[in-house]
Amino acid sequence: MSGSRPVIGRFAPSPSGRMHLGNIFTAVLSWLSVRKRGGKWILRIEDLDPQRSKPEHAEAIEDDLRWLGLDHDEGGLDNLGDNGPYAQSQRHELYAEALGRLKRAGTVYPCFCRRADIMATQAPHQSDGRIVYAGTCRPADMPVKFTEPERPHSIRIAVPDKEITFTDRVYGQQQCNPAEQCGDFVLQRADGAWSYQLAVVVDDAAMGVTEVVRGSDLLLSSVQQICLYEELGFDVPEFSHVPLVVNADGVRLSKRDTGESMAQMRIGHTPDQILGAVGYMACLTDRPQPATIATLLDRFSWDKIPRQMTVTACRP
Ligand code: GLU
Repeated sequence: MSGSRPVIGRFAPSPSGRMHLGNIFTAVLSWLSVRKRGGKWILRIEDLDPQRSKPEHAEAIEDDLRWLGLDHDEGGLDNLGDNGPYAQSQRHELYAEALGRLKRAGTVYPCFCRRADIMATQAPHQSDGRIVYAGTCRPADMPVKFTEPERPHSIRIAVPDKEITFTDRVYGQQQCNPAEQCGDFVLQRADGAWSYQLAVVVDDAAMGVTEVVRGSDLLLSSVQQICLYEELGFDVPEFSHVPLVVNADGVRLSKRDTGESMAQMRIGHTPDQILGAVGYMACLTDRPQPATIATLLDRFSWDKIPRQMTVTACRP
């Protein structure tokens, strides 16, 4: 996978609110992994959703990371580095160029299905309730010559009917047939908005990212992304999914869990207290004691990260 390329990692938050302990958990592990191997860390702002993304949240994210001592080499609000801009809302041309290539290759097709129709007519996936698109608009023979219809349409990629395997550094060997478990997925919505899957692959490839660290909820997304890496001829990065942080009720942290929000945690806590809680949750330390980032770096190893899908929040 990454071979002898220099190690480049990234943290790619959506600026839809203040970060919580779960976001910090991912950020810290991503930063440690990169720094352990002398690599570079990119801060990319995933602000494709104009309704939910706010510049003040992006500013707070950067400020919180700096306060914790998680410095970045590229990206952020001042667009440090040569691979910018580092906010997805400013990278439309790159996504359009990639989609243009897929249209010319004939691996994408227009889809007229509305979300409500898909939800109403297709059974949710047995294991986790996902809806797998049944391929209603997929042409009988792929690849096809793409022609742009006049009616509003989204654009889907035809995924291959074959097993895709990859080794996640936390969860081990993963195997999945995207045709059965994901279905053809949207790259551009009918309103022109780019999908997360397309944007993240184009950006990770353009920024030379060699390792992707993110929450375990995106494990299956990696399979969709590998399909795109292959179609676009990009090198596939290494994937490390990390447990989602849940509250005492076992529910994934959200903006409503104010006690675990950085806004709250920064009042009355030092960075080392928060880092200590993260280090303990990540099994890098034995006790939830304050820890410096240098201590966590010293103790960091992917082998220690818990392999369950969730970890319970440990308040600093
Ligand atoms: N923007 C995504 C999030 O905040 C992260 C996606 C990724 O790291 O690939 O959940």
